[in-house]
Amino acid sequence: MERDETSPRATRWAVLFDWDGVLVDSSRQHEESWHRLAREEGLPLFPGFFLQTFGMKNEWIIPQILHWTKDPEEITRLSLRKEVHFREIVAETGLTLCPGAWEWGQWLAGRAVPTAIASSSQRANIDLALEKLALRPFFPTIVAAEDVSRGKPDPEVFLAAADRLGVPPHRCVVFEDAPAGVEAGKRAGMKVVALTTTRAPEALREADRIIADLGASTPSEIERWLFP
Ligand SMILES: [Mg+2]
Repeated sequence: MERDETSPRATRWAVLFDWDGVLVDSSRQHEESWHRLAREEGLPLFPGFFLQTFGMKNEWIIPQILHWTKDPEEITRLSLRKEVHFREIVAETGLTLCPGAWEWGQWLAGRAVPTAIASSSQRANIDLALEKLALRPFFPTIVAAEDVSRGKPDPEVFLAAADRLGVPPHRCVVFEDAPAGVEAGKRAGMKVVALTTTRAPEALREADRIIADLGASTPSEIERWLFP
């Protein structure tokens, strides 16, 4: 009997994409949303805070890195407010795809390779951009900030995504731009490709492979690398 190459069961691998800095070029908007929130609340930010925090959940950033408050209700309020600012900025300035994101989505969807977004961002941010950028059909599976209790570098978000796709961790490849995300992918027992879209390569050394962005490689090339 001929093997059905279009069936998800026929796939050998799954692809888990971080969202910000991997599929969408959103760092400028996220940084500005922290500044707007800090101004509005009269709270301090320190130089370099953004690259230290980008890729982590707000619920970790606010108490542990910015040291704004440890009150859970206040953390939730500030976190939600920050994302309101983010979506306002996106409405004002738009959002662009990272190089290669469209081509990867199209290729993987066309071959029914199981694919998920696994992000520290809130689901509303991702939904908004998927609609605006007409990417929804490529990425039906999303694990967002609300879906996990422990943010990156904990592996929970990637393990949850693999579980939803029904693919074992060792057959998953993670694409990440943040050191915390690279660590999360490795701790999940997955192959990790780091993209230098927002960080220098030195910060991403734990990855199995480092490339400039998704446009710098093709799915066929990554598949051959995974299964030589
Ligand atoms: Mg990221």
